[in-house]
Amino acid sequence: MRRLFERQLRKATDDDGNIDIEALGRLVSAAYEEAEHDRTRTDRSIELMVEELTAFQAGLEEEIGKRTAQLRLSQQKLRTQNTRFFTALENMSQGLAMFDRNQRLLICNQQYLNMYDLPRRYGRRGTTLTAIIKARIAAGTAPDIDPGAYIEERLSTAAEGLDSSITHHLRNGRVISVSHRAMPDGGWVTMHMDITELHRMQAELAYQAYHDVLTGLPNRNKLHQELETAFESLDTDDCFAVLCLDLDSFKAINDTMGHAAGDELLRQVANRLRRSVGDRGIVARMGGDEFAIMLRDAGEEQAAGLATTVLDAIRQPLDIEGHSVLVGASVGVAVAPRDGNTPDRLLNNADLALYSIKRGRRGGYRLYEPGLAGSTRGRVQLENDLRRALPNGQLELWYQPILDLESGALSGFEALLRWQHPTEGTILPSLFIPLAEETGLIGPIGEWVIREAFAEAASWPHPLGIAVNVSSSQFDRGNLVGIVANALGASGLAPGRVEIEITETIFLENNSANLSVLHQLRELGLKIALDDFGVGYSALSYLLAFPFDKLKIDGSFVRALDHNPGAEAILKAVADVAARMGIVATAEGIETDAQFSKVRELGYGEGQGFLISRPLNRKGVYELLHSDAAPDLRKAGP
Ligand code: C2E
Ligand code: MG
Ligand code: MG
Repeated sequence: MRRLFERQLRKATDDDGNIDIEALGRLVSAAYEEAEHDRTRTDRSIELMVEELTAFQAGLEEEIGKRTAQLRLSQQKLRTQNTRFFTALENMSQGLAMFDRNQRLLICNQQYLNMYDLPRRYGRRGTTLTAIIKARIAAGTAPDIDPGAYIEERLSTAAEGLDSSITHHLRNGRVISVSHRAMPDGGWVTMHMDITELHRMQAELAYQAYHDVLTGLPNRNKLHQELETAFESLDTDDCFAVLCLDLDSFKAINDTMGHAAGDELLRQVANRLRRSVGDRGIVARMGGDEFAIMLRDAGEEQAAGLATTVLDAIRQPLDIEGHSVLVGASVGVAVAPRDGNTPDRLLNNADLALYSIKRGRRGGYRLYEPGLAGSTRGRVQLENDLRRALPNGQLELWYQPILDLESGALSGFEALLRWQHPTEGTILPSLFIPLAEETGLIGPIGEWVIREAFAEAASWPHPLGIAVNVSSSQFDRGNLVGIVANALGASGLAPGRVEIEITETIFLENNSANLSVLHQLRELGLKIALDDFGVGYSALSYLLAFPFDKLKIDGSFVRALDHNPGAEAILKAVADVAARMGIVATAEGIETDAQFSKVRELGYGEGQGFLISRPLNRKGVYELLHSDAAPDLRKAGP
């Protein structure tokens, strides 16, 4: 103000220093006016500013209120979310663990700790991965690998920061699937799932796909796979062999003793095969009573050696449900690569060799030879052919003379079935009767045999008899008594001239039903013979179960007379038992004069065998019966 006044005073003073009072007065009042104006303006500004500030503060408070409410809501949400997260974490069936970039635990759930038998303290935040792994190794819940290597593997997986999955087989037997997911900050999450059950089921399925459940042996698929591998690694001079094996008379045992016994028999046979082969190869069950063996590094000689071993092993009596059971087997052998350069060809050729041996008398082994392919049919083909055999008139009965050993006279004939196959020639019953039994064709075939044999025998001079073989499966199905009665009626044959030959198998199942059929047959006036005595079940108690008219000891005992001293003792014991029981004893399979004299001396009442005569066809029988000269019974037929 002073400076303003001085400025106004200078303005109102002229050069001579005279002051114009009037001008000064004007100037001063103007200055006062200006200052007043400025003050008013400032006051206004302040007023506005205060207003503005008040409004701003009010807005700010509102905003703060809003924000606080929002924050509270978010906090609440977060709390709910957290609760949910932990509930989820603890309730998930998987184990979960989260680690930071320094491999320290951020969080894990109880499942994770349980899965690896880790004490609670290992779940604390900050626990190192190394500490956890060490604790797992101590608890036996680490994979069955070197602990150091395991730690290294886990740490390097963690360091990689990549997503990965791995299955761990823990030392305690559990199987855990682990997946790692990398997190953006360098840490990672692992999910752990116990897949032990799943794994077990998968393994079980895989096992079942390649193994036979009954015997535990590898199955056809597995053998095929093994053969393929063997072919792949076959060097120029290498060879290996395949042996196909089929049990004789398994069907009968299964039918008569029941499936449980059949299963037990297969298991025992499987064990014997396993023992015989050892680690030299693989034994597989191909289905039913068929087995196959792959013998490594083996040519013809080794394969033949194994075939003999295996056959010997199987021939030893088996103990099935307290019964001593004998089974035989046939073996076909093919050697790779000579007899086939693919698994299928090799197996097929071993099969051909097998069926060619089954066409003849059972038992033994045969090596594949190229000619077989043309002359031997597969089993399926044979089954199809057999269906047509009866309607197409391919079945024939041949008759083997039975001699009364005391008088030397012919006492009758045994009817033996032959199949004249259009391309295969004569097929013997040991090959196709089991097939007929399996397919049910034994029903019509058996009935035809009875009618045909009775009709034929009716034309023979009295009192020549006829013996007819009836298989045990004919007892199970159909009306055997009715069929026999009808055939007797149709042929006019006296029942006393008929003998029904059965084997011990009919006693093994359905015992009382079968016995009742036997009694009914006997009531019709027929005789009942127990055939093939001594092989099979060999229970002397069967002799007490039914009043047999005749006992036919198996030809193998007669043939064994030549080389086995025990045979004579057995033959004698059986003849004595039969004599004591008033049963006629028949010796089958007499091939030499020595055998003939021996069985006569031992007390056998009847005899049969190639020495006396081979089976004859109708014409042969006719000639024999009508020749004036003493019949030369040694003339041969099939
Ligand atoms: P099986 O009833 O024991 O018949 C005796 C078998 O021994 C016959 O074999 C016969 O040809 C044979 N044979 C006879 N003498 C001798 C000999 O001196 N040496 C040798 N090595 N063998 C001899 P085949 O005809 O092959 O019959 C085998 C089996 O087939 C028969 O054994 C019988 O169990 C069964 N069979 C035959 N025909 C029929 C039938 O019509 N129905 C049924 N269900 N089975 C039959
Ligand atoms: Mg017989
Ligand atoms: Mg016999």
